[in-house]
Amino acid sequence: MKTKIVATLGPASMSEKVIWGMIEAGADVFRINLSHGNSDQWNSLVQAIRKVSNEMGEEVAILADLQGPKIRTGETPVGGIALKTGDIVTLTTRQVSMEPGLISINYKDFAKDVKAGERVLIDDGKLTLLIRSSDMKSEVQAEVLNGGILTSRKGVNLPNTVLSLPALTSKDKENLEWIMKSDIDWVALSFVRSAGDIRALRDAMKMYPRGFYPGIIAKIEKPEAVADIDPIIRAADAIMIARGDLGVEIPFEQVPFIQKSIIQKCIKLGRPVIVATQMLEGMLTSMQPTRAEINDVANSVIDGADALMLSGETSAGPYPVEAVATMHKVIEQAEMFDDIYYRTGQVIGSGGDRFITDTLCSSAVNMAYETNAKSIVAYTHTGYTAIKISSHRPNARVVVFTPQPFVIRKLQLVWGVKGFIAEDLEQAANVTESMRTFLSEMGVLQPGELVVHLSSFPIQGKGKTNMVLLAQV
Ligand code: PGA
Ligand code: MN
Repeated sequence: MKTKIVATLGPASMSEKVIWGMIEAGADVFRINLSHGNSDQWNSLVQAIRKVSNEMGEEVAILADLQGPKIRTGETPVGGIALKTGDIVTLTTRQVSMEPGLISINYKDFAKDVKAGERVLIDDGKLTLLIRSSDMKSEVQAEVLNGGILTSRKGVNLPNTVLSLPALTSKDKENLEWIMKSDIDWVALSFVRSAGDIRALRDAMKMYPRGFYPGIIAKIEKPEAVADIDPIIRAADAIMIARGDLGVEIPFEQVPFIQKSIIQKCIKLGRPVIVATQMLEGMLTSMQPTRAEINDVANSVIDGADALMLSGETSAGPYPVEAVATMHKVIEQAEMFDDIYYRTGQVIGSGGDRFITDTLCSSAVNMAYETNAKSIVAYTHTGYTAIKISSHRPNARVVVFTPQPFVIRKLQLVWGVKGFIAEDLEQAANVTESMRTFLSEMGVLQPGELVVHLSSFPIQGKGKTNMVLLAQV
């Protein structure tokens, strides 16, 4: 299978048994949502994942998801409070207990940032308010456009408001400290508004000196991010199309087209891209997803996503393992469709520091296409070559060898890439032949098959990819 599966962990999937089941069913990456739980719980999750994956001999990546500038309402009495359409209510940043007509908001500059005429969406847009006036300190008057029952700690979206919140809240900074002490491969940042937000996170990470750094995933869920997508894709190491909040912050009928356009851009720029949220939502209550959900999974594969994500389906629902297995089955079928392979249109610039590598990756994929070679086998130190090959979406399998275990784990997110540790490979007399021997012994390669190799030569020089070779097993 080429398309990867990201499974979110939560109360339904904290046990080693369920983690085992999900890996067996096809999960490649586990997401820990730092909006919930505490560092003790996250530590035991990381431990459980690494223990199980070691026992199984399967590498998996761990993705830690930073909450970012997420705004929430306060606590309501049991049963919630009713908001009636047409009523005028007060939104306050004071810490009060909520009552009918009084809603507390956990963001201190709320009254300063909002303006009359802007909309406030609560609980995934189920409740809609319109700002009437603000005292610019703590109290805001709003009209209920779309009423309902409000219960505790619901998400608040302000699609029209320019927020003065920083990209990294104090909670995020605290959580980043935990991430940098822990065995985490990818960090996602929620509610990204600009490429500067990504740079701020990268700078904050650099405060923790270490041998390697987790990759940064920009979650696209704000209109500002959609409007400024190109610089964000370039600044980030990967992208997540976070359709839950995105479909609240912009008219939801635009989401399918934003998904297609962002995936195309990511493929062109060589950045892995994840499609997230409600992919198999029906499996929260039933073993069977809806037909529409199956279509959504298949169409996201056809759009060209690197990875598809499960949220509540695996973190809270009764069928976490079945959800992964169902997604796996639908992906496998969708990958029979020829249109997803050999995406052309990548611009190989004639300059830049990776120009030679980029050209060779493109040539290797063309060579595999022309010769019908079943495998492209590369040697990589950073994973760059693997991601570049993958971004051409070859039908040939992509196998990479690397001396770095963390590179293999990171690449678990990337379309079609399978990594192996290159133990002692640098000492081998004929490195490409050693790789073929290893893969033949693993049963990956069959006698007579063609293999396209990519590597730096000489390999001991640890340089950039500069060689492409066509070999027969
Ligand atoms: P979340 O992000 O689950 O952290 O909110 C995904 C989304 O908004 O779609
Ligand atoms: Mn979100």
